[in-house]
Amino acid sequence: MEKNLLETPIEYLKGVGPQRAELLKKEIGIFTFGQLLEYYPFRYVDRTRFYKIREIQSDSTEVQIKGQLIKLEEIGKSRQKRLVAQFADDTGMVELIWFQGIRWVKQGLKAGVDYIVFGKPSFFKGKLSFAHPELEKVADSSTSSDLVGLQPIYSSTEKLSSKGLHAKGIARLMKNLLEQVGNVIPENLSPALLDKLRLMPKAQAMEQVHFPRSPQLAEAARNRLKFEEFFFIQLGLLHQKNLHKARFKGYVFEKVGDHFNQFFHRHLPFELTGAQKRVLKEIRKDLRAGVHMNRLVQGDVGSGKTIVALMSMLLALDNGFQSCLMAPTEILATQHFNSLVELLERMNINVALLTGSTKPAARKKIHQMLEDGTLHLIVGTHALIEEKVKFKNLGLAVIDEQHRFGVAQRAALWKKNTLPPHILVMTATPIPRTLAMSLYGDLDISLIDELPPGRKPIRTEHRFDSHRLRIFDFMKKEIAKGRQIYVVYPLIEESETLDYKDLMDGYESICREFPKPHFQVSIVHGKMKAEDKDLEMERFASGKTQIMVATTVIEVGVNVPNASVMVIESAERFGLSQLHQLRGRVGRGAEQSYCILMTGHKLSNDAKTRMETMVRTNDGFEIADVDLRLRGPGDLMGTRQSGALDLRIADLSKDAPILNLARQYAEYILKNDPNLESSENQNIRKGFLARSRGKTQWSRIS
Ligand code: ADP
Ligand code: MG
Repeated sequence: MEKNLLETPIEYLKGVGPQRAELLKKEIGIFTFGQLLEYYPFRYVDRTRFYKIREIQSDSTEVQIKGQLIKLEEIGKSRQKRLVAQFADDTGMVELIWFQGIRWVKQGLKAGVDYIVFGKPSFFKGKLSFAHPELEKVADSSTSSDLVGLQPIYSSTEKLSSKGLHAKGIARLMKNLLEQVGNVIPENLSPALLDKLRLMPKAQAMEQVHFPRSPQLAEAARNRLKFEEFFFIQLGLLHQKNLHKARFKGYVFEKVGDHFNQFFHRHLPFELTGAQKRVLKEIRKDLRAGVHMNRLVQGDVGSGKTIVALMSMLLALDNGFQSCLMAPTEILATQHFNSLVELLERMNINVALLTGSTKPAARKKIHQMLEDGTLHLIVGTHALIEEKVKFKNLGLAVIDEQHRFGVAQRAALWKKNTLPPHILVMTATPIPRTLAMSLYGDLDISLIDELPPGRKPIRTEHRFDSHRLRIFDFMKKEIAKGRQIYVVYPLIEESETLDYKDLMDGYESICREFPKPHFQVSIVHGKMKAEDKDLEMERFASGKTQIMVATTVIEVGVNVPNASVMVIESAERFGLSQLHQLRGRVGRGAEQSYCILMTGHKLSNDAKTRMETMVRTNDGFEIADVDLRLRGPGDLMGTRQSGALDLRIADLSKDAPILNLARQYAEYILKNDPNLESSENQNIRKGFLARSRGKTQWSRIS
């Protein structure tokens, strides 16, 4: 019953009708009563307060004034046309301006009449004006004058506004909606939860989030709804994880055999850090357990994820299985391949590299060796998940630099077997815990939260372009000490010709400043052929060249321990996580390393924060938190594909405590009642089902 009412198509709401319904669907994706109810205001204003025109400051947010419309006229021709009104109270005069929907606005207004004007003031050429304000006749405003409390402000669009659905129009719909459904909004949390966490009941929260009687009640309502939002997402993810564990048996790797032991005792070039040991233990436990492993390893740049991956692959081998390591770029795959070959040098293990540029003959051979099982480990790019690639028995797939691979690609790996291979995902960049919990809440998470010993923290400095000559001097000194240097240029879209020109100009000026035969300079960018790139990387890695001029193709994974200086040009154009990644290319050896962020003098506030953050800290998790605050979750992950990021009211950068609480209670409830069968949890069960009906992504595999 209740459920049906909230699923009523939006056109049936009083005040909507077919035309507005069409717009609500198209513009803001609202199809039903329930969806409108979850269209929350982004802020509130006190509409009992009227400003005098004289009081208005240039930086006011929306204000409300009462006065008389003096004059109304259309100015300009055709596309330049606008409607301008003079509006006055007893303290001054403002201009109201409309650029759109002129005819429609004009019809509704009359000079000489008293109105209430609501909008955001701005000063243009010293004159105070309101663009596209909302107007209401003073005589009609009884509805708002008897309002107590706060007025909700909803975001609207140009088109919605032109049909009367500006912030206030939407508020009116919301009033109608609450009148109609207010009594039947079902409670979707259990009495015990409400009681324990002192949460506002659902129906009251809906009333108070839209039309709060006080700021305190607005806050309480919002907290309750945020909790609920996180809670159901976490419930979904955890439920998914449970299902997954129940449904998919995993290969059992019970043995720790010769390969692992031999490597561990004889060939491991260093002592593992405590964190590496702990994570390996977590992985071993998964691999023994007979369930399918789906684990995410998070660790800062340089924390030593590769060795953990390798040792997990040796476990697979000891139990008679093949494994693969998949990387997002060719450079990175090649680098991984080279380090594995080196680490496994004196062991009798067959490793191969498969990428887009593997020659047909070699490729054929690799395909065959994978199929007959003579190849034990394979490293590669997307080329690994092509249909043609078949394994004899793939037992473990390690995916490096996760967020560049989609869910579909992870899924493709599964089909390579009767049982899915165990999956170990390694992230390149730490992501904030809130984000990890939302995006990968269905995976188990391991943290490598310790760097190998003996690392000197990288020193980071911010310098302006005008200091370039001094930077060159510094570079020369470092080279004289035998070190190598990266100089990185932004080339975000590899096709941007201007960026490309900057890069080449930079390369030339460095070649001039560091002339042959004394210096050797390499260059690597996305437009080069793979072989040329490899050749240049190889020259740099082997110390034949001292300077590597590059774009962000070297962002991930590249490991040249002798490189100790990273100069980042136009650093203001990079995001924080990218800067951190780039910086992670140095500081890999025993020497003091430096990162120099070069920028122009003019910087936005965001850019300043990014530079300051980089200079202040080397901690990837701390940087990730700032990044999340600056950019928001969608941008951070370069995608909005995940339903878990599509939040209506909660905010991942501000509401971490609520998310933690929600996760904790979701875990607790599912632990005691995995299928939500107890009478106590029936509200939750219904709420859960209602939500998952609309959200198919919850049922997909990951
Ligand atoms: P990332 O986590 O960024 O992938 P890598 O696996 O590339 O890091 O490791 C970075 C560097 O640290 C490599 O040169 C690696 O050999 C070295 N390394 C890894 N673990 C240790 C350790 N326990 N002790 C000393 N050096 C280590
Ligand atoms: Mg790595």
